[in-house]
Amino acid sequence: MSELSAQSFRIRGVVQGVGFRPFVFRIAREHDLTGWVLNDADGVRIHAEGRRESLAAFARDLVACAPDAAGIDAVEVTGAKPGPFTTFIIANSERGFGPTAGISPDLPACAECLAEMLEPSNRRAGYAYVNCAACGPRFSIVEGLPYDRSSTTMREWPMCEACSGEFHDPEDRRFHAQPVACPYCGPDYQLHDGATTIARGRDAIRDVAPMLTSGLIVAIKGIGGYHLACDAGNASAVATLRERKFRKEQPFAVMVRNGEAARRTIELTQKAEDLLCSSARPIVLGHALVNLAGVAPDTSELGVMLPYTPLHSLLFAEGAPDRLVMTSANRSSEPIAYRDDDALRQLAGIADVFLIGERRIARRVDDSVARIGAGGLCLLRRSRGYAPRRVARMNLDAPTLALGADMKNTVTLVVNGEAVMSQHIGDLSHLGAAEAFRETIDDLISMYGVNRDSLCVVHDLHPEYFSAAHALDLRCGRRLAVQHHRAHIASVLAERGAFDEPVVGAAFDGTGFGDDGTIWGGEFFVGSIVRGLDRVGHLRSARIPGGDAAARFPVQAAAGLIAEAGVGDDIDLTREPFFFPDRYAQARALLERDIRCFASTSAGRLFDAVAALLGFVRESSYEGQAPTWLESLARRGRATVRMDMPFANGELDFRPALLAVMEFRKEGIADADIARAFHRGLAVGIANGLETIASAHSVRTAVLSGGVFQNDMLLSDVLEFLAPSGMRVWTNNVVPPNDGGISLGQAAMTMAFK
Ligand code: ZN
Ligand code: ZN
Ligand code: FE
Repeated sequence: MSELSAQSFRIRGVVQGVGFRPFVFRIAREHDLTGWVLNDADGVRIHAEGRRESLAAFARDLVACAPDAAGIDAVEVTGAKPGPFTTFIIANSERGFGPTAGISPDLPACAECLAEMLEPSNRRAGYAYVNCAACGPRFSIVEGLPYDRSSTTMREWPMCEACSGEFHDPEDRRFHAQPVACPYCGPDYQLHDGATTIARGRDAIRDVAPMLTSGLIVAIKGIGGYHLACDAGNASAVATLRERKFRKEQPFAVMVRNGEAARRTIELTQKAEDLLCSSARPIVLGHALVNLAGVAPDTSELGVMLPYTPLHSLLFAEGAPDRLVMTSANRSSEPIAYRDDDALRQLAGIADVFLIGERRIARRVDDSVARIGAGGLCLLRRSRGYAPRRVARMNLDAPTLALGADMKNTVTLVVNGEAVMSQHIGDLSHLGAAEAFRETIDDLISMYGVNRDSLCVVHDLHPEYFSAAHALDLRCGRRLAVQHHRAHIASVLAERGAFDEPVVGAAFDGTGFGDDGTIWGGEFFVGSIVRGLDRVGHLRSARIPGGDAAARFPVQAAAGLIAEAGVGDDIDLTREPFFFPDRYAQARALLERDIRCFASTSAGRLFDAVAALLGFVRESSYEGQAPTWLESLARRGRATVRMDMPFANGELDFRPALLAVMEFRKEGIADADIARAFHRGLAVGIANGLETIASAHSVRTAVLSGGVFQNDMLLSDVLEFLAPSGMRVWTNNVVPPNDGGISLGQAAMTMAFK
């Protein structure tokens, strides 16, 4: 008989709220070990004793068989003194300071729970809050750490005897499932007509399904907020929703019944289908295979997601249409409503009825949006299912809070070597989003127990950013400003932990404040995070007339760029084939008198100008609409013509391409072919710029980031043109390439400050 020994295990990563302790309990018993497991502020600790070979097998299984939703970062094993243990137990959580234990993102309902819900004789038949240790809400119900029922919004619902039995039974799959509940003791759903409750529980859901079929608009409480839902195949319901929501053209996401319905709705590669079914359950963008009138008017792509709460599955089981528009419940682009009273108030006049869930949501968490693109996984919005997972590791001298940009805002907190990024917060010019921004900062600081006096706060260089102004109001030890486009490049490097990798980077996006006080947005850098990133090139600068409105009116951007290209009144753009509206003449007048004009190297404005020249002459009704429209147009085209954007002396010159667009259009070349040629011309220009800089500085790695690289056609072209150079090309795979990724890059760039 071999001698007994004892070991301590310390496990870091996303190990709380994913059924990790019950899993440890089970494998410890399988291997005949005694001791204990507990959650503490840093993750999970285990004391195990038994035969040496059993301990070794246990250590192996600990990593190899961990629950799907767990993300183990590190396992540290040390010898321990054998104790007087005769059995293996799950001990009480310890409370401590400075917790960095990852709290799990919200998890989709598992197959076993769904089967129970749909089994008529089951105790939880028709119960929309069914969950277990491996599935259900997490981040959206947590109000503090460690993750125990008493620190979630489920503390308001004491468990009945049966639930408590499951919760305490180590053999049960609900063992230590913090949100466990049943129809007898837990929260339920209510159907509300705006004035009063008209049904409750399963009846409420039974009543709602035919309402959706008949074309009504239903506000539905989900995991991290309310959705507005209607039949995606009912054009008049979709049009009514747009009208009531003041959302003219921005695409709606669609929730489909199941994987089969998804395959009938968008083109799905195996990787895209895996993403769709992943535990994050994001909205996945793909080429639309069906025409759903009014759902996504400007684009050939459609965003699709699968049901992720038991409620969603129950709705489909009760006969809801196969495809439902599921859009964040708000007016216009305010943040998603997540409190019941707010939803009832804000959505009065939009929703016909409300499906109100009684479980409180601790914080709003929007749906995430992603695609599998030319550079692999590309997150366009990182929120539910991903937040608050660690996005990078980095060793900074002090805990650091990076406040991000004002559009698509997220914030990042770096503490104990781990960078945690918040859920998507949104556009801070909206009052509600600004409030959410402040709440999220407080939430992160208190959740991770950060001492404010040692905190380093990082913000954008833009003097007029709300987030930058807020930095001044935060108590902290130090404040740093990081230039917007350096943060974009650094976000890619931080994801990979490549802090001293010398790279050449292209940051192409809408706008960001530059070192020289002008507006940047088509920038080339060389250097590394640690040594700093030097701006060594840029898109040719142009004066853009009209201040902030320039971003909403593509013809205004066009006026600026066309003037820069030397075109005067010799070409009348108000006539065929361009038909520019009056706003164009007004913009030219501003340029001539140099009133409200600003210098800009923005690539976003170049896309706007080309879109205007190819027919997008109206006002944009959402950010990025004209570039999205242009990309969709290009997807229908072939490269029958070509245009050039030479890169010389650090300048990428758009003028020949812009003149070519005008010339081709006058010649009657198909718009789609011109749009296609523009993408290729810009891609060649970017690739040339990167190669020229790389060889001058002997660098072998190129980095692409910024909102323009959400354009998968452009990204794919740039990758194609860079391939012969043999350069390594890195893009964002963990955080968004758009401004949603800025906060991570800001935090990393603090390494460049001494
Ligand atoms: Zn489950
Ligand atoms: Zn119960
Ligand atoms: Fe940006």
